[in-house]
Amino acid sequence: MPIAQKIEGFLSASSWIRKMFEEGEKLRKIYGADKVYDFTLGNPNVEPPEAFHRELQKIAANPVPGMHRYMSNAGYDETRQAIADVLAEETGRPVTPGHIVMTCGAGGGLNVVLKTLLNPGEETIVITPYFVEYRFYVDNHGGKVREVSTSAGFQLDPAAIAAAVGPQTRAIIINSPNNPSGAVYPAEALAALGRLLQEKEKELGTAIYVISDEPYAKIVYDGVAVPNIFNHIKNSIIVTSHSKDLALPGERIGYIAINPDIADSEIIFNGLVFCNRTLGFVNAPALIQRLITPLQRETVNIDDYREKRDIIYNHLTGLGFEVTKPMGAFYFFPRCPIEDDVEFIRRAQEYNLLLVPGSGFGLPGYFRLSYCIDMQIIRNSLPAFTELAKEFKL
Ligand code: PLP
Repeated sequence: MPIAQKIEGFLSASSWIRKMFEEGEKLRKIYGADKVYDFTLGNPNVEPPEAFHRELQKIAANPVPGMHRYMSNAGYDETRQAIADVLAEETGRPVTPGHIVMTCGAGGGLNVVLKTLLNPGEETIVITPYFVEYRFYVDNHGGKVREVSTSAGFQLDPAAIAAAVGPQTRAIIINSPNNPSGAVYPAEALAALGRLLQEKEKELGTAIYVISDEPYAKIVYDGVAVPNIFNHIKNSIIVTSHSKDLALPGERIGYIAINPDIADSEIIFNGLVFCNRTLGFVNAPALIQRLITPLQRETVNIDDYREKRDIIYNHLTGLGFEVTKPMGAFYFFPRCPIEDDVEFIRRAQEYNLLLVPGSGFGLPGYFRLSYCIDMQIIRNSLPAFTELAKEFKL
């Protein structure tokens, strides 16, 4: 075997999204791209805001000497200052550049945080359903994942979390707005989690860190607000990116923000900067750091996503699918009409509908549908969902 056994195992167990993408390629060749309804990828199809292109032109016209060199492993001071200013304003807390580390996206940031925090064998709690990469990120740094289920509407279940926390618990990853469910956790839920963890920390004599993975924080609908975790949980670290809110996933730009209330935040900052370097990221991409500095209050056009969400929600519920209406992000996570989600996905494929089974997110019996795709494909897909619903007698 040319690759490590563990990676070989991960490859065959983890590749649902890739498998479906490859199926899509095959089907597109046979039927044509407009007749294959590919809901598998979370790759935003909206364009970055106009301001991004303006900044890009500005910098191309007036290059700053040395702008392509290495900088501090934490990132540019002015970029971290701009982020700290927004967070300080949002939370009323003294967030400074000393709490911010620029990263290669949220994925890079999560790896940096886990590398910094985890001792061998320590546990990280993840909330099902969850972004599948968490499992591999935790493994990358010698940790163990412990899955905890949600309550109705994919909300946090404090009793289930309390039962899972033990002496080995080092961190909890939460993700709101959530991929794949679209759930947003309200302030009360975060406050309850904060209280619960403080009690557990006292009882166990440990520190438990909440890693709040928030790349969808600005993609919310119907006036829903995403509460800032710093106001509710002392031992909290935000990891986020501009992959979704500025539609820049290919540019690999994100950041980590440490709650200023954390004890020893400077030690954590130093650990994060060291791991950013030694994981080989070195620093977040220089040019894009400069570009996003003045864009901290910009967001892609959310109306486009809302319209798509509403069309799909109305159609699926009208057909009888059991669907929780997403409050944010751009995914649906409906229940499959049969228990076997993999079989359901296979049957959907016969109508050229490409979906991802819930098993890929730690929750079998559901499927994920990603709606950051062309409106025309969504409209073309509706009769296929109708046929699928008929087949399952919904
Ligand atoms: N976290 C969640 C929940 C995601 O859905 C994604 C990407 O889809 C990421 C993290 C990684 O995003 P990035 O492109 O910022 O690495």
